[in-house]
Amino acid sequence: MSLALPVLPPPLRPLTVQADLQYHAAPGGGIFNPPSATHMGFWSINPYVGCAFGCAYCYARDTHRYTLERAGPVGRAVAESMPPWQAFERRVLVKEHAAARVREALRSSRAPKAGDSLVIGSATDPYQPAERRFAVTRSVLEALEVVRGLSIVIITKSPLVTRDIPLLQHLARHNTVAVHVSLITVDRELARRIEPRAPTPEARLRGIRRLAEAGVEVSVNCMPILPGITDAPEQLAELVARVADTGARSLGACALRLRAASRRRYLPVVREQFPELAARYEATYRDSVYARETYRTGLREAMERLCARHGLRFRVYRYDDAREEPDKEIHNDIQPSTNQLPLFT
Ligand code: SF4
Repeated sequence: MSLALPVLPPPLRPLTVQADLQYHAAPGGGIFNPPSATHMGFWSINPYVGCAFGCAYCYARDTHRYTLERAGPVGRAVAESMPPWQAFERRVLVKEHAAARVREALRSSRAPKAGDSLVIGSATDPYQPAERRFAVTRSVLEALEVVRGLSIVIITKSPLVTRDIPLLQHLARHNTVAVHVSLITVDRELARRIEPRAPTPEARLRGIRRLAEAGVEVSVNCMPILPGITDAPEQLAELVARVADTGARSLGACALRLRAASRRRYLPVVREQFPELAARYEATYRDSVYARETYRTGLREAMERLCARHGLRFRVYRYDDAREEPDKEIHNDIQPSTNQLPLFT
């Protein structure tokens, strides 16, 4: 059997068109992102560059733009065909031959070893609509069947991950495997305004239940909590109760961090969808990526109490993007609203 890595076709070659969504071949290169490159304490794989779910707060948009700009004239033409935030959602790059690239890397030092952590979907969703057509994530999981002793985490908003339950169960025989499903609200209409093309909260809750029933370790990422939008006490209480009812064992939560990459899309959405909050957001995040520490602390304590009430373990989140600015807290005008949890008043 030949172990040679396939010669990749020219990058940005159009693969297929689905209405206004176009898929292109991603440029080649390493399939595993090492901790030394990302400054995160884990290895990662992102099968797709760009994400059709289009969450307003997404911070992965810059990576897509840089990838296009580095891909020569074709990439620049794609990049210039529409605003960068829109290209991220509508021009998704697919990492072809991912399984062969994983197998090749596993034979080298460019791959995680026993004891390491590997996150699949650290930047973009590995079960976004592209996965139904290209199955890159599935091929990566198949190629990982030979690994031992890894801590593997998959981060997604999509119940499509349940398609791969048998693979996850197989991987869990020799590794620790967990699926972290992102869910910031159970209000379907609110979710549609913020995460316009992501699966509905109900679909995600059904997916979480299926994973739990199959014995796959599943946790929920309630992040980012959006000040003034998804942080009312009754919203958080209902969310935690609904998650607990699925059989998930743990939940992680943190307030919105607004990096430059997400600010350019998120703040216009706030102005359009939640105009009454626009000025406070502008002031709060003008010079800081963080909400105020008292807000973050109160939020974390409130979530810990809600989780304890419902028998969920509150998870301190490790698998977050560390490429952010130092903690600066120069301005923060997001004040507790009158309907906030008592801890915030
Ligand atoms: S699902 Fe994740 S990667 Fe996709 S747009 Fe939303 S936040 Fe970004």
